[in-house]
This record gives sequence, structure tokens and C-alpha cells, in this order.
Amino acid sequence: MPRTIVEPFRIKSVEPIRWTTRPQREQLLRAAYYNLFLLPADDVLIDLLTDSGTGAMSTHQWAAMMEGDESYAGSRSFERFRDSVQEIFGYKHVIPTHQGRAAERILFSVMCKKGDVVPNNTHFDTTRANVEFVGAEAHDLVIPEGRQPSLKHPFKGNMDIAALETLIQTMGRERVPLVMLTVTNNSGGGQPVSMENVKAVSAVCRKHRIPLYFDACRFAENSYFIKTRERGYESKTPKEIAQEMFCYGDGCTMSAKKDGLANIGGFLCTSDDVLAQQEKNLLILTEGYPTYGGLAGRDLEAVAVGIQEALHEDYLEYRIASTAYLGNHIASHGVPIVQPPGGHAIYIDARAFLPHVPPGLFPGVALANELYHEGGIRSVEIGTLMFGAAAKMDLVRLAIPRRVYTQSHIDYVVEIILAVWEKREQVQGLRLSYEAPFLRHFTARLEPVAAPAAVRT
Ligand SMILES: *Cc1c(COP(=O)(O)O)cnc(C)c1O
Repeated sequence: MPRTIVEPFRIKSVEPIRWTTRPQREQLLRAAYYNLFLLPADDVLIDLLTDSGTGAMSTHQWAAMMEGDESYAGSRSFERFRDSVQEIFGYKHVIPTHQGRAAERILFSVMCKKGDVVPNNTHFDTTRANVEFVGAEAHDLVIPEGRQPSLKHPFKGNMDIAALETLIQTMGRERVPLVMLTVTNNSGGGQPVSMENVKAVSAVCRKHRIPLYFDACRFAENSYFIKTRERGYESKTPKEIAQEMFCYGDGCTMSAKKDGLANIGGFLCTSDDVLAQQEKNLLILTEGYPTYGGLAGRDLEAVAVGIQEALHEDYLEYRIASTAYLGNHIASHGVPIVQPPGGHAIYIDARAFLPHVPPGLFPGVALANELYHEGGIRSVEIGTLMFGAAAKMDLVRLAIPRRVYTQSHIDYVVEIILAVWEKREQVQGLRLSYEAPFLRHFTARLEPVAAPAAVRT
């Protein structure tokens, strides 16, 4: 096998990106209150804020969009969308939503009430917020290995089966309306869940008659990790693996902005007729009629094609290799990352990168800001700003948009990270000057605790 990663596509349409100078970036950081969410995207050279909705669509997706049927009810596009989703996921009811969190809000509104408990390997931020919004408690039960950033384990996204049993015993089965499993485990480092673990979680759920739902955002990447790391799956296709995985559950929430390879969209699936009816009633109230759910017919077409393309083996091989290339390259120079590299992103351990910045001074935010300051790269903190004092780690996530950046872009990112690594001792912490009551990281304002070195001189 040649060692060079060749993108399994060529580029038909290009989008210019823009350089800024270091003094401009200093000014821009100040104007954005040191919160990279508040930066204009035009001032970012390489945007690794998220892999959500930022992917490049294929010629097949664009062609399908022209076939979009914009009928309000019963559109052809919905039928194609439903059939494509059902072929992979296998659930009886497919409810389109404008993105993943809308599916979450509807699911938890229908299934949970105040005082309930929802276990997950690790709740994503919107998932936790939607659980808590209905008055339920979100419990993260990832295996202990999943909480140790530098430890290598092939399936660090696995759920701790004993902890799940204990939680159900101590809380009482009546308080646990569903169990969620996030594949791959985004907030835990983009780490996969093994088929063995899916089966074990499913068995516990079946024993207690608790429905199991997947947070399926990166189901294709998870399937590929199972293929390459779990015995017995080497010769199965990613699609066969996904189909098997979903058959152990009762439904899912999905953001099609991830492994749907679309710029917008999502869905909620269930095999339960009664729940599906309640969910569709809520959908009509806030999202739209059940055959479009807040999406245009053309969006449904893009998702119908995208979830199939995300399972193509040559695409997955390139994607996972390119992410690992970034992670392994910086790690070989000593940069502390969550090991092994995840599917959609590399997570730098900011507490280990900046040991002189305590969690209360947001080491993840400080590091993300410095990567922008140094090279115009935007990343995101997953840590104390996002989760408050409950955060067990302070990570900086470099999420790789799908089919967007080339090998030379990734080489540039490596160069900038290593430059910041060389001068890490100069990076200062920050403190909050404004925070919102929910999901504060999106709008928070911060200020450096000391003037940044570059401004002082
Ligand atoms: C992105 C994401 C969500 C929410 O989806 P949106 O489309 O952003 O609303 C939920 N769970 C996980 C694991 C995610 O990565």
C-alpha cells in the first residue's frame, strides 16, 4: 500500500480562503471577546470548529437535490429519504427534523419527565441540555479507560456495563425511560463503541425492558472502526456492520450534518407506534409536517444519498487515515492528545498541554485562542467552559470537515500546533465576563487574566 493519503475524489468547485495578519488576529480576538464562536468565519483560514454541516457534497448529492420534490405532504423526496434511512437503520418510523437537537428535544419531551434519569456513554452538549430541559438527569457512564486521555484502548467509547446495572438498580427501573448510546462518542474524544459493547448494553436494556436509542451522528465512522478493530467484522461491509448495530436498539436520533454528509438535516427513528404518533404531533407543532420536518425536499434528497456515501469504504479509509495522520504527527512531537485518534477529530489534552493554567482559567479556551492567534486556525474547547465545573477533562477539539481540506491543509495545521507547543509556557488563562444560563460556551465573553505576551511587548 502506498503511504500517501490520496483523497478519493477530485475538486470540481473551489471556495477561496483568506489569510489574516497576526495584528489583525489580535484585534479580531479582542473583538470576539476571546470566544472563537463569535469570530466572523471569513477571518478564519482553516476552520476546524466543527465537522457538523461543514462537509462538501458530492456530484451525486447535488444531482439528487435537483430532483427535490417540494410538495408539502407526501413528497417523493420523503419516500426516498425514508427508504434510504430504513435500509441502513431498520426502524419502522422515520421522522425528519431540521437537525439532531430537534430530534433530541422531541424524543426527550415524549419519553422523559422530571426526576427521570438518562444514562449515555457520554452525553453530547445539546443532548445533555435537552435531557435537563425536561427536568431529567443526564448520567455519563463511559468505561474508566474513556476518561484517561493518554490511555490507548480500541473502543474507548464503550459504556460501563456494571455502572449501567448499578444505576438502574439504585435509581429504580421506573426512573430510567431509555438508555442512549452515542456512536462514536463525540464528547469523549470521538472514540468508537464496539459491537460487543452494543450487544451487552442491549442485553441489559432488554432484561429491564428499557428501550435503547442510539445517538447515531457518526454511525459510519463507528462501523469502520468495528471493521478494522473488532474480531469477526474484518470481511463485513460498513453497511452490514451498521445494520447489525442498529438491530440491537429501538430507535435513534441523528444529525445528518455529520455522517449524513449534508449541510443541514436530521431524523428521529423509533419502532414504537404509540411513541411515533406522539413524536409526530410534537413535530407538527414546531418543525413541520411529518414528510418534511423543517427541511426542504432537496435537503431530504441530499441526506438520502449522503448516509449511503458515508458508508463507502474508500471514503471511510481516507477519512480515518487523514484524521489519524494529524493526531499521530503532533503526538510524535510530544503534544498530548486523546489516544488513539478518533474518527472525526483530534482532541488535544489542554490540561496536559498547559499545566500552568488551572481548569478554572479555561486552559482549553486559552489553547484554542492561541491556535487562532498563531495561524488562523479555529478549533473548539470541550471542557470547563462547555460543561462547567463538572468537566472531567479540558480538551481542544480539531474537528475535520468531511471531504473539505486536503493533505497540505492538514500539514499546515500540524506546523501551527507544533509552533504553539514550542511556546506553550507563554499562554495565559482567561476568566468569564458574561455567561448565558444554558449552553454558555456559544455566547460566553472572556478576558485574559494577564495581558497576552504579544500585546505586552
Ligand atoms: C452534533 C451532535 C448532536 C446534535 O446535532 P445537531 O445537528 O448539531 O443539532 C447530538 N449528538 C452528537 C453526538 C453530536 O455530535
